[in-house]
This record gives sequence, C-alpha cells and structure tokens, in this order.
Amino acid sequence: MNIHEYQAKQLMEKYGVATPRGTVATTAEEAEKAAADLGGGTVVVKSQIHAGGRGKGTFRDGYQGGVKLVGSPAEAKEAAGRMLNNTLVTHQTGPEGRLVRAVLVAEATEIERELYFAILMDRATSCPVIVASTEGGVNIEEVAEKTPDKIVREVVDPAIGLQGYQSRKLAKMLKLEPKQLRAAEKLFASLYHLFMESDCSMVEINPLVVCKDGSIKALDAKFNFDDNALFRHPDILEMRDAEEEDPRE
Ligand code: ADP
Ligand code: MG
Repeated sequence: MNIHEYQAKQLMEKYGVATPRGTVATTAEEAEKAAADLGGGTVVVKSQIHAGGRGKGTFRDGYQGGVKLVGSPAEAKEAAGRMLNNTLVTHQTGPEGRLVRAVLVAEATEIERELYFAILMDRATSCPVIVASTEGGVNIEEVAEKTPDKIVREVVDPAIGLQGYQSRKLAKMLKLEPKQLRAAEKLFASLYHLFMESDCSMVEINPLVVCKDGSIKALDAKFNFDDNALFRHPDILEMRDAEEEDPRE
C-alpha cells in the first residue's frame, strides 16, 4: 500500500524526521489560507498523487508542473485552483495520468544540494538496505544507469539495527560536513525506526536536502507498506486512498 506525501510527512513528524512545515488543502481557498498561515511568503504547492515526477509533470489542460514555487497566498490559491480536479501526467502515472484531489502547501526551502536516501526491504534476506546518493532530485534509475558509482548500498542487520559507523559512512559518502553529522545520524536513525516499526517495504526520500542554512530536511517522501503487516497498523491503514490504488501493483 502507498500513502500520499502529506501523510508520509505526518508519520515523519511523529518520528522526529525534519521536514518543511506544511498543510494539506482540498480547495484553492484552503491553499490560500495555508500559505498565509505559513507567513504569507514563498511556498510550494504540491499535487498529491501516488506517483513521482510531479515537478516535471504536465496537466491534461496544458498547465505545467505538479509542484509549483509561488510568492504569495494569492498565487498559492491560483496554483492550487489550476491543480485541483485536474489530471496530472508524469513519467510514473502512465498516459492516463492521475486526478489531483488535494495539494500540500509547504514552506519553501532554500536548497543548497539535493540528495537521495532510501530504505528498502531486501526480500531475499529480509534485511533492510539503505540506498544513498549525492545525485538527488532526479530519477534514481537514471543515476543507476549512467553513474552507478554515485550510489551506495548499506545493508543493516535487523537484529542489531542501524549502527553509528554506518550512518557516519553514509554521511561521508553524501559529502555532509562534520557539523552536520549529528543531524544526519538522527535523521537516518529516525527514518530507520519509522521504517521498521511501520512495516514499510520502502521509504524513499528524494530529495533529502542540505539547506542554505546548513540544516538537513526530507523534502519529498514516498512510502510503501507491506500489505500483510497492515493489520498491525490501523492508523496507517486509515491512510489508504482507494481512489489511488494502482492496479499494476
Ligand atoms: P516529485 O519528485 O514528484 O517531482 P518533489 O517533492 O521531489 O516531487 O519536488 C520536485 C522538486 O521541487 C524537488 O526536487 C525540489 O527541487 C523542489 N521542491 C520540492 N519541495 C520543495 C520545498 N518545500 N521547497 C523548495 N523546493 C522544493
Ligand atoms: Mg521527488
């Protein structure tokens, strides 16, 4: 089962994973209010569908971009008005696209670098594997194809958990500075706990960003859950969006 980005954000907040502040909206007016509540400055309006590639996507009516940086609540209202009840086509939706029923209005982050960080369950060994790359914000399959040396994999022993030396190794590979190490270790550990305790089959943070102020934040999140374990997580099961269920999965 998949969930929306705004729901993944709620889970990350519960686990103390740093994310930009934000609120979900289902009408243009709600989006305007959400932007005003965030201070009235620059925000991002993000289409909520169970597919990635939204930023570079195109709506059925020709409107460009399922993720829009806007400068004011009035512009947030306008962008949300264009996205809501419109169909967004991305490289992951197939030509039929997906109907946008909600948008996330989030604080705009000043980005220094975009990284990739994911945790997957390796079915064969039942061990979690962390996949990380300095090449974030882009399609990871493409990175794997063109520059495979820029991707690292770190296997975690589930009986021991993610160890400090592993987090340090990942931080170094991601070219994080020594002063960012503690924040990175906390973020990796929090995501790992979320992954294990929620019976995820995947958590993908693309991008994980280094902000201009030096902080590290999860800007986008795609979570996947093991359907056979969902009975243990009624709170997550409640996040199911039947309208979005992908028949291909
Ligand atoms: P998708 O992967 O579906 O295209 P993302 O959430 O990754 O959607 O957004 C696409 C891009 O938009 C990101 O790589 C990032 O550059 C930018 N972006 C997303 N959220 C924010 C934000 N809160 N602040 C600033 N830029 C953002
Ligand atoms: Mg993304």
